Amino acid sequence: MNIILFGAPGAGKGTQSSLLIERRKMHQISTGDLLRAAIKDQTPLGQKAKSFMDKGELVPDSVVIGLVEEVLQKNKQSVIFDGFPRTVAQAEALEVIATKLGLSLDKAIFVDVPFEELKQRLVGRRVCKNCGAVYHVQTKPSQKEGVCDVCAGPLVQRPDDREEVIVTRLKAYEDFTSPLKEYYKKLKKYHEVNGNKASEEVYKSIENIIQ
Ligand code: AMP
Repeated sequence: MNIILFGAPGAGKGTQSSLLIERRKMHQISTGDLLRAAIKDQTPLGQKAKSFMDKGELVPDSVVIGLVEEVLQKNKQSVIFDGFPRTVAQAEALEVIATKLGLSLDKAIFVDVPFEELKQRLVGRRVCKNCGAVYHVQTKPSQKEGVCDVCAGPLVQRPDDREEVIVTRLKAYEDFTSPLKEYYKKLKKYHEVNGNKASEEVYKSIENIIQ
């Protein structure tokens, strides 16, 4: 079973992916994580992506499609697509790649969270610089301020979680990603979960869909 998790930034796709990895041994392909790793490694791709990401804009389709195709050569079993596709052009490309690689794209699950809640989640989000564990200053603080509970690494705010960038990211979601709902409805792959609940409850709804 391969699934697509989509929704606005801050909807909890990463959290749900972590639970699916842990409990169902699935494999996550997160284009956001892949792009951040490319930036950290200072690859040509990372250098190209950085200026878009810093502004909260989408990285060009050709760049992310190439990246996903490359990763899919290595694994096409039990994949969670997290943050990809983010445009209809990416979704169309993914259908073509899937056919080419013999990968089934079973369900596209939309994680629905109200706009105001998304803003709160993003502004307060902190991530561990070492291991990537995710916290929130109000709803999920670390035991010691600024220090990761898992690995004692430093907690930082992602540059694109600053308030002025969040507005652009949410706008990009509205303009380019939300049309995916109609796209997957037409393909009869569309499912929806209420993401405005505790992560365990959201997880249960996702499990019900993929059982
Ligand atoms: P994320 O970690 O999924 O919130 O992604 C962080 C940023 O990476 C986004 O704001 C975009 O700039 C870029 N990005 C991630 N995935 C994609 C994608 N599928 N298409 C275009 N840009 C992306």
